[in-house]
This record gives sequence, structure tokens and C-alpha cells, in this order.
Amino acid sequence: MPSILNADLHCHSVVSDGTLTPEALAERAAANGVELWALTDHDEVGGQHRAMAAAKAHGMRYLTGCEISVTFAGETVHIVGLGFDPDDAAMQQGLEDTRGGRDGRAREMAAQLAKVGIHGAYEGALKYVGNPKLISRTHFARFLIETGVCKDTNEVFRKYLTEGRPGYVEHRWASLRDAVHWITSAGGMAVIAHPARYKFTANEEFALFSEFKAHGGLGVEVVTGSHTAAEYVRYAATAKEFGLAASRGSDFHSPEESHTDLGRLPYLPGELTPVWELLADRVR
Ligand code: AMP
Ligand code: MN
Ligand code: MN
Ligand code: MN
Repeated sequence: MPSILNADLHCHSVVSDGTLTPEALAERAAANGVELWALTDHDEVGGQHRAMAAAKAHGMRYLTGCEISVTFAGETVHIVGLGFDPDDAAMQQGLEDTRGGRDGRAREMAAQLAKVGIHGAYEGALKYVGNPKLISRTHFARFLIETGVCKDTNEVFRKYLTEGRPGYVEHRWASLRDAVHWITSAGGMAVIAHPARYKFTANEEFALFSEFKAHGGLGVEVVTGSHTAAEYVRYAATAKEFGLAASRGSDFHSPEESHTDLGRLPYLPGELTPVWELLADRVR
């Protein structure tokens, strides 16, 4: 497969915090000209067989995917897994453990919101949840917008649900080591998601990339819906510095909320090794 490929290797369905089914996403990806697709729901592989079948029905090549929540240096980092066996028991158990704390966290978030006069947030967020084990801040954001507390997602994450704001509950996710090992032991490749989104010092970022590599991580997202054009350039250089392959993905969640649609991104810079070059034998 060539470097210049309309690959979209990061998006979310109702199985986590997206609003479309895997089938509707596949249809939209195909309509937008996506040639290689991966559904990467948060901490959950329950949509993989549906996504694979839907990709096939639309003549799209497919890589299995998942976006794992990790705690590193006190910050939440996301690690995308690509091309793993979706039925791998150890990975499924690891993801189940990672999801485990979400319900209790959601109840605490709601209790905090109630203290600032926003009542019924847990029940309100649940209405948007497609998978009860995966209640996330995105579902709370939808409730806060629906009830007119905020006008859009940006305002929600500026005023609520983030560190120092009402509704933020500190949470411990998987370790970097475990996440990378689950993915690689299941035959897949680990990729650092949207590196520009983390509030790390230069030293912490260096530690993230170094430790990730030491655990066997092989890729980094360079062109993603959550990077600016300047950040593509910056992380293309980081990919080369650390000898990592580069990935491309919209991080699409919803037609109403996402500013980058499936497949609608610049191509990867030509001098990088695309992740799909190393995953050629895992493309379905
Ligand atoms: P959680 O896994 O419950 O902590 O929720 C994280 C999800 O919230 C991310 O995957 C995004 O979908 C969403 N999110 C986090 N921060 C923002 C933000 N600043 N703007 C929009 N969505 C965000
Ligand atoms: Mn999300
Ligand atoms: Mn993410
Ligand atoms: Mn994502």
C-alpha cells in the first residue's frame, strides 16, 4: 500500500462515545473515499466484528482498532492499538479492567455537578450511552448541552469536567506498559494518539516517547483531527527522531460534534513510514 493513502485509523462508534453505529460509520467512511479504515472505540473491542463486516460490504480494507486510556506522569494519555486479534483473551480482560472504574467515576462526577446546581447528570448522561460500561465525559457533555448549561462541547470542557473544574474526577487508567503489552501480545501495533493534546513538559514528553518505545510501541499519530498543521510538522519530526511509524486518523465522533469528518485530512508527509506499511499482513 502506498504512503499516499486515504487511511482513517481513528474514530468512535456508539460502542464507546460516538453517535453512529459501526455500520453507519463504515458507510460514511466509504462515501468519503476512505481506502483503509479502523474503528478505535475507547477501551472496548465489542464493535470490531461489526466494523470488519461493514468495511467488507463497502469494499474497504480494514485494520482492527482500539484506543486505550492510560495514566502516565499524572496525565491521561491515549494509546491506539491497530491490527491485533480482536478475540485475544488477555487484551479483552485488560480492557474490561480498564473500563471497570467508569461507572463509579461517573457517579462522582454527577455528585460534583449537583453541588454546583446541575442535577440529574448521571441519569442524563446515561441516556446518551450506547454501551453502559463505557459512560464517558462525552456523554456528560451531551447532557450539559441538551439542558442548555453550555452551548457546545468546547464550552463544556472549558467550564466543566476538566482539571480544577466541577465534574472532574481524577482517575487511574491502565499503565503505559500494560496497554502496549496487551496490544503487541495480541499481534497488533501500539500507536501514541494525538501527542499534541497532552499537557506535558518537554522532559515528560521525552519520557513518554522513550518508555513507549522501550515497551515495544512502534507508531505515533501525526495527522489527526486534533492536531493543527503546525503540529503535523512538529510530530513528523518527533516520529523521525524516535524512529516511529506515522498514523493518520480523524478521531471522528459525531456528524454534529466533530469538525474533522472521516477521511477528510491531509495525507501523511511523504518522508514518514506509514503504520500500514508495517501492518500489511494484518489488513483484512
Ligand atoms: P473520558 O474517557 O471519559 O475521560 O472522556 C474522554 C473523551 O472526552 C475524549 O475521548 C473526547 O471524546 C472527549 N473530550 C475530552 N476533552 C475534550 C475537549 N477539550 N473537547 C472535546 N471533547 C473532549
Ligand atoms: Mn472520545
Ligand atoms: Mn483520544
Ligand atoms: Mn479518540
